[in-house]
Amino acid sequence: MKVIDHLRQAKDTLVSFEVLPPLKGKGINALWDHLDPLMGFNPSFINVTYHRSESMFKRRNDGVFEKVEVRKRPGTVGICAAIMNRYKVDAVPHLICGGFTRQETEDALIDLAFLGIDNVLVLRGDAPKNETSFEPEPGGNRYATELMQQVIRMNNGHYLEEDLKNAVKTDFCIGVAAYPEKHFEAPNLRTDIAHLKTKVDGGAEYAVTQMFFDNSKYFQYVQACKDAGVNVPIIPGLKPITSKKQLTIIPRTFHVDIPEDLASAIMACSTDAQVEQVGTEWLLQQSRELKQAGVPVLHYYTLGKPQVVANVVKQVF
Ligand code: FAD
Repeated sequence: MKVIDHLRQAKDTLVSFEVLPPLKGKGINALWDHLDPLMGFNPSFINVTYHRSESMFKRRNDGVFEKVEVRKRPGTVGICAAIMNRYKVDAVPHLICGGFTRQETEDALIDLAFLGIDNVLVLRGDAPKNETSFEPEPGGNRYATELMQQVIRMNNGHYLEEDLKNAVKTDFCIGVAAYPEKHFEAPNLRTDIAHLKTKVDGGAEYAVTQMFFDNSKYFQYVQACKDAGVNVPIIPGLKPITSKKQLTIIPRTFHVDIPEDLASAIMACSTDAQVEQVGTEWLLQQSRELKQAGVPVLHYYTLGKPQVVANVVKQVF
């Protein structure tokens, strides 16, 4: 079922989760251990991230360094199929521009359609770690908007090659990313929202936000989007802080602020267990306030900490 239909049929705030494919394609059992305890909360859908390969230099036996492609978390499509099979819950694969030609994207979409997957979260992806700016593959999509247009063309029966005209009929529901604290490359929030509007006007049916730790930023953002004519559901993305080092890693990686109160409460902790407790309490307060405000879904980035998320969700729903 499409995410947008879950949202339309909902009588109250829904819950959903995001998971990562296992590192280096390791057994899927680790993923089940992660997800099983969360399934009692009846998530409406589960997102599965996509991770492009990274190129890095490795030393060969003869001492010479050579550039190799390292694939960290393969398996997004297979994991989506396995999730749908095991839990009978809709899986939402993340689909990125980076690293894909349009033909490869088309093949991936055909796979998804054959597997009965109705949803895609369409993203640009980031530049690989050792590159300064994002460059599409030759013949690939540059922005999420372009990738979205490709999905919509397929939904309308237009494949890249004429002889695929009788190929599987797709009908994907398209979600996109949104940034309450602005995407780091955008010159300002207004411009970034204008780009979100282009995605929505082009056919995106909902957006999921980057994580944030200050609800007022989300509320202001949703209002600014409405004022700019963006009228699709904007789903808040939420993540618990569970270690001191995340106070620097999260802002550096995701370009979001950690409020002073939260940062100082975490700095004052003397054990990991205390940090986890502070992070859990913060997420609980965020979740309660957002639910009370009637947000469509609470979407949790579970990232290795399903028990913290479970602990929060059971107190909110
Ligand atoms: P876009 O919407 O294409 O925007 C990228 C930048 O270009 C923005 O600054 C935007 O303002 C600007 N822009 C957009 N259109 C135009 C235009 N026409 N002209 C000029 N500028 C323009 N990354 C992964 O690799 N895998 C994942 O699984 C993944 N999941 C994510 C899930 C969520 C909910 C979020 C919020 C992010 C996720 N990301 C993921 C990260 C995402 O790929 C990066 O943030 C990326 O840098 C931007 O992706 P986007 O889809 O927002 O890009």
